[in-house]
Amino acid sequence: MDDRGWDKIQIKNLEVFARHGVLPEENRLGQKFQVNATLYLSTREAGLKDDLKKTIHYGEVSRFITNYMTGHTFRLIEAAAEQMARAILLEFPAMEKIRLEIVKPWAPIALPLEAVSVEIERGWHRAYVAIGSNLGERQQLIEQGIEALKRLEGCRVESVSQIIATEPYGVTDQPDFLNGMIALRTFLPPLELLDSLQEIEQAAGRQRLVRWGPRTLDLDLIFYDHAVIDMEQLQVPHPDMQNREFVLKPLAELAPYYRHPILQKTVKEMLDAISTKCR
Ligand code: ATP
Ligand code: MG
Ligand code: MG
Repeated sequence: MDDRGWDKIQIKNLEVFARHGVLPEENRLGQKFQVNATLYLSTREAGLKDDLKKTIHYGEVSRFITNYMTGHTFRLIEAAAEQMARAILLEFPAMEKIRLEIVKPWAPIALPLEAVSVEIERGWHRAYVAIGSNLGERQQLIEQGIEALKRLEGCRVESVSQIIATEPYGVTDQPDFLNGMIALRTFLPPLELLDSLQEIEQAAGRQRLVRWGPRTLDLDLIFYDHAVIDMEQLQVPHPDMQNREFVLKPLAELAPYYRHPILQKTVKEMLDAISTKCR
């Protein structure tokens, strides 16, 4: 996700009387809030055709915000912003990203401040997830894994590659694998996505006995936008992807021209490189 090419629709100072706050009086009596929202999308088609159906109706978004703000009670405006941003992204699929500010002009702290506010930016990202299984009902486990990803809130499965049979990698003395690739749109940040992938692995009965050993289900995060992540629990792009045909082949089916942010090679180039090496 990036700023290039996105148009903006802005909603400024939408006033809502609502009941968010840490103090009981705030929840009982309520107070005034102001909401500012910048919606990022492409307005190009609506602009060319002068067609409301091709854009996001700011009136509907304003009504949604008003209903959300009055229909919930949060202690923190941080929580109101976080939850409402999610709800808006789910409700208006054409929105790529939202910048949301909640202002509390009457914040009860008995000091002469003009207003307090929280501003966040949330949006959709593209992720590629490798799926593999070589234990039990492999085909069924893979299908169940894909179904579980489809059910995750904040994830949309965009496309799934063919599932291919491959020989084991690393530890070769084990059953063959079935491998595939899934393209996702998600508003989960990388570590939360990893947690969700691990929960799905657990639900499929995954036990981590030996590295590269037999497993019911393996879900590895290969790319997350063009992000580079170097943490103990998560490295993205997956550090060994460029050496694995069972990753590159299905990935090339979905995104042959996606460029590795460190190696600066496309998926197709990486696949060609290992295919020639193997010959
Ligand atoms: P490999 O990652 O070499 O394919 P594996 O998939 O068998 O090996 P797992 O047992 O599934 O390895 O995962 C071990 C740890 O790897 C996980 O607990 C996770 O924290 C970490 N990890 C680091 N980067 C990634 C990534 N990109 N995707 C998934 N897990 C990752
Ligand atoms: Mg793996
Ligand atoms: Mg793994």
